[in-house]
Amino acid sequence: MSASLGIDAVKARLIAAAQAVMDNQDRLTKADQAIGDGDHGVGMARGFKAAREALETKPAATVGDLFKTAGMAVMMKSGGASGAVFGTFLTGIAKGIGASDLDAAAFVAGLRQGLADVQARGRAKPGDKTMIDALIPAIDAVASAGDIEEALKAAADAALNGVEATKAMVATTGKAKALGERSRGHPDPGAITLSILLGELAQS
Ligand code: ADP
Ligand code: MG
Repeated sequence: MSASLGIDAVKARLIAAAQAVMDNQDRLTKADQAIGDGDHGVGMARGFKAAREALETKPAATVGDLFKTAGMAVMMKSGGASGAVFGTFLTGIAKGIGASDLDAAAFVAGLRQGLADVQARGRAKPGDKTMIDALIPAIDAVASAGDIEEALKAAADAALNGVEATKAMVATTGKAKALGERSRGHPDPGAITLSILLGELAQS
């Protein structure tokens, strides 16, 4: 148990998270084919490949710098609604974390800022069947954790439950909105991507 994760450990986990999104491209494609236009896997894989490369080459003084580097790459390379959403999310996290290590308090502050920025930009509300329906339970779960590993694990577990919960939701925003009632029963693709990222940060 430790109170915080050092910058090198965060960097390694972020690189692993970016790689995990790339490795799950087909799963994300299938999820978006079911309720959207099928481009989520390709877009996210492209963006997170760029994020991985940027993380490996760009110097970072703080944990926030790492999240900003990843977010800018996703924003520029992904395309689609999710490129803006996940780019905004990651750069929002960066604003919450100025230190050269990551503790549970900074992690929750970062996630809260990421959520606020995503909602300011895209106007999604809870229950609209988007990635925020996995993010909000993750934030709620982290808020009570003291230890960073405990916080990361709690966030990852809660995001997975959030993905399950999106199955029952009817999409009211984005491309899936056109499907209306027929979007029910399928998980939200962006929520899956969020659960992959948080799962890898927790190394679970
Ligand atoms: P597009 O909708 O342009 O085809 P993608 O298929 O790559 O983009 O991404 C769709 C995902 O983006 C959705 O599953 C959802 O989680 C997320 N998303 C879309 N619009 C919003 C929004 N306004 N706020 C939060 N997340 C959103
Ligand atoms: Mg799509």
